Amino acid sequence: MEKEKGSLDGVERVNSPGSDGRFNRRAITPEEAQRRVVAAARTVGSELAPLAESGGRRLAESLRATSDWPPFPRAGLDGYAVRAADTAGAAPDSPALLRAAAAVAAGELAAAALAPGMAARVMTGAAVPEGADAVVMLEQTAEASLAGGAAAVLVRAAALPGQNVAPRGEEFRLGSLLAEPGTLLRPGHAALLGTFGYADVPVYRRPRVAIFATGSELMPVEAPAAPGRIRDSNSAMVAWMAEQSGAVPWLCGTLPDDRAAVEEALHRAAEEADLIITTGGVSVGDYDVMACLLRELGAAATRVYGAEADAVRESGLLFNKVAMRPGSPTSAAIYEGKLLLCLSGNPGACFVGFELFARPALLAMQGCASPLPRKITAKLALSVSKGSPHIRFVRSRLRYGDDGIIYADPLAFSKSSMMASIADAEGLVIIPAGPQGLEAGEWAQVMLLPT
Ligand code: AMP
Ligand code: MG
Repeated sequence: MEKEKGSLDGVERVNSPGSDGRFNRRAITPEEAQRRVVAAARTVGSELAPLAESGGRRLAESLRATSDWPPFPRAGLDGYAVRAADTAGAAPDSPALLRAAAAVAAGELAAAALAPGMAARVMTGAAVPEGADAVVMLEQTAEASLAGGAAAVLVRAAALPGQNVAPRGEEFRLGSLLAEPGTLLRPGHAALLGTFGYADVPVYRRPRVAIFATGSELMPVEAPAAPGRIRDSNSAMVAWMAEQSGAVPWLCGTLPDDRAAVEEALHRAAEEADLIITTGGVSVGDYDVMACLLRELGAAATRVYGAEADAVRESGLLFNKVAMRPGSPTSAAIYEGKLLLCLSGNPGACFVGFELFARPALLAMQGCASPLPRKITAKLALSVSKGSPHIRFVRSRLRYGDDGIIYADPLAFSKSSMMASIADAEGLVIIPAGPQGLEAGEWAQVMLLPT
């Protein structure tokens, strides 16, 4: 293994803190860090998904109406298609008497135009016969017969032209925009796209996310308890969060705090993943391998790997410290051309880091125009009185009060190393940097977490 200042064997480690650059990281604001990550996230390619399976995906192209909609004048309800003029003055005690034409069921077309003085029975959704300009609801009519026995209809209300008829093109004109690229496809889109014949929908590919947990103390979830060791709980959490963001997680397992092992794994991941997420090893500890690697990426602003390779693979640091709690050592880089997000190993900080940086990156990769988390204003139900030099993101429950106000309940066990509050969190209350926090009853900004 390569001997590094601050690396595993520590042989060359210098004693004075800071002289190896570990403590000299330059913190940027979470906003700036988000901006850098989103700017570095490149959109992935697109593919066709069957309409019924495209829910939750992001549209990759503008889709347009392939016809006018409705495509023909449509009866809005069951009744009789009439010429409105033929019913002028009709009322319950002086109904208009019209000759009955052949009925038109939904899916059929009338054999002939409606002649003056006639009414045609139509069902909801049927094409209104040519010549007719209104539909009178069935309840305002009665069947009758003429002197010679021919079928007729009594119309007990005067119809207005256009009544109960959806004219052709009322909702969409041929070519009008249905949805833009980056749109999250929801059930309503299925109705819209199905209407216009989009059996297959162009969507962004699901980004592939390589996930590594670094830390020599880590064991796989299925391992029996062992002294001094803990199970890797971050990988599965990050995998679920990636899936929740429309991505395909690629679980690469755990890695020891070993520079060579980490570099080899990153290199392999960079070949196939769209985003690489690591957890752990970004602090200033002696064995924090990721921090060491990132520091070097920062020192060499841009490196080119494998000059003989077809593609030039760039590497460079985006940031290695964020002025926030939890997760200040959260880091990001471009590693061999791929976005690399290095989250803290502490489960709480890992979770917050994912929400702040990984989810926006994944959404941006899928063409989402506003990938940053949504914020609302809520009233604090409890005070978070401790001050902090950095902005804080406090895991909280949200409650809709009877007064119509949304209350945020900061959760207990909210330290970055704790995980009890992660499962219950519905939002992250934003406590601004300052000597004191926020008191109960004060308004706070809350970043919404997906449910
Ligand atoms: P690190 O970011 O490597 O300094 O780790 C911070 C803390 O998080 C340590 O207590 C680690 O043992 C713990 N930790 C690191 N990685 C994981 C993981 N994958 N699952 C659960 N805890 C972890
Ligand atoms: Mg560690």
